[in-house]
Amino acid sequence: MRPNDVAVIGGGAVGATAAYDLVRRGVRVTLFERGGIAGESTGRAAGVLYGAFAEDRDAAIGRRSIERFRELSGEGDFEFRETPYVWLAREGDERRGEAIETQVRRMRVHGVDVELLAPGELAEVAPALRTDDVGAAAVARDAGRTDPASYARLLVRKAEREGATVRTGTTVSLDAGFDGAVVLDDGQESFDAVVVAAGAHTKRLLADAGHRIATKPYRVQALTAGFQARGEPNGSRRTTDDAGVPMVYDATAGFYLRPHPDGLLIGDGTEEVESDPDEWERGADPEFVESALERAGERLAVEGLAVEEAWAGLCTATPDRNPLLGWLDEDRGLYVATGWQGHGFMRSPALGERIARELCGEPGIDAFDPTRFTGEEEFAIVEGMAVD
Ligand SMILES: Cc1cc2nc3c(=O)[nH]c(=O)nc-3n(C[C@H](O)[C@H](O)[C@H](O)COP(=O)(O)OP(=O)(O)OC[C@H]3O[C@@H](n4cnc5c(N)ncnc54)[C@H](O)[C@@H]3O)c2cc1C
Repeated sequence: MRPNDVAVIGGGAVGATAAYDLVRRGVRVTLFERGGIAGESTGRAAGVLYGAFAEDRDAAIGRRSIERFRELSGEGDFEFRETPYVWLAREGDERRGEAIETQVRRMRVHGVDVELLAPGELAEVAPALRTDDVGAAAVARDAGRTDPASYARLLVRKAEREGATVRTGTTVSLDAGFDGAVVLDDGQESFDAVVVAAGAHTKRLLADAGHRIATKPYRVQALTAGFQARGEPNGSRRTTDDAGVPMVYDATAGFYLRPHPDGLLIGDGTEEVESDPDEWERGADPEFVESALERAGERLAVEGLAVEEAWAGLCTATPDRNPLLGWLDEDRGLYVATGWQGHGFMRSPALGERIARELCGEPGIDAFDPTRFTGEEEFAIVEGMAVD
């Protein structure tokens, strides 16, 4: 049955998009956010956006997301900047090299715009990249980058314009006898359905309502850095983002980089242990900063990389690396949206739309059904971009 009155918990990219798509469908929506919009993972994300996924359903979600990013670009301060995404394995790393070739074959079957690149072709796509040690590389041209917070803020503004109520600075909880009520400091409010899109806090929130879900928050890191192009005189620091650098994931070295107004954004530093969603180190580790600069300096024809800002944030892992997206208890109106394995922002335009469609009666995605796990599974956290 289609709900008339829905609470969305979480003002990140996923909750913001779901709120907008629900209210556009005529549903009354209240969005609860305990801090500010995009104050958690979304505001800490790198803003790498691509639709290059090997599974059919993932490719469709990726394609739809890029399409919506393009449509929305230019509204408010949100901008989708077209930028090719290159991923590569080094010579001698046969396992990852073969995995890239297999991925590309599978993606092309699903109509994803990707191709394998010979070293000479790679140098053309990415003049600033060191290519002499590359064994296998591919490029996705349906890709781009953005400032993630600007997207979430835009979607929330659009939702408000359509009539959604947005309550920032409002922490809510669920109680053990969940029956559609959201618990606030000063009482309860009842809804036909509650969408829990609370990022790393989702597991804890749902545990209070008596539901165990199979996800673990884990910490990842990123930094921005200015640089000099090789051969340029000292002092000619590049802080623009137009130096012939695409977005790159070096699967062998296990890091990614992308152009950024400060120069570069470099990321990874995945800590493959479960993190407490409240107690975690917000700053980057010095070892991550040192190794990120070293690896990026090796991969690019730049020197003098100097950090502008370095930080950490939380992602959410699941046993099979697929999201937990769907009804946990449809009769009582409890819906969950988490477990993005480091790819929640780039997929949020399509995920939010799927949430709205499912709440309005359309079928969900079986492979993402959150009840496929009991929540008691033992599993290891695997870095989201890993090529294997
Ligand atoms: C360093 C880093 C780089 C990343 N890079 C990328 C990238 O390039 N591309 C990509 O796709 N993904 C990236 N990710 C992952 C991405 O950030 C997440 O997948 C995505 O932002 C998840 O969005 P969300 O809306 O589910 O969660 P969040 O953005 O975390 O939003 C959840 C919101 O719920 C709120 N909340 C929690 N509990 C409550 C409560 N009790 N009451 C009210 N509100 C509550 C929180 O305050 C938060 O704002 C990166 C992550 C990090 C940390």
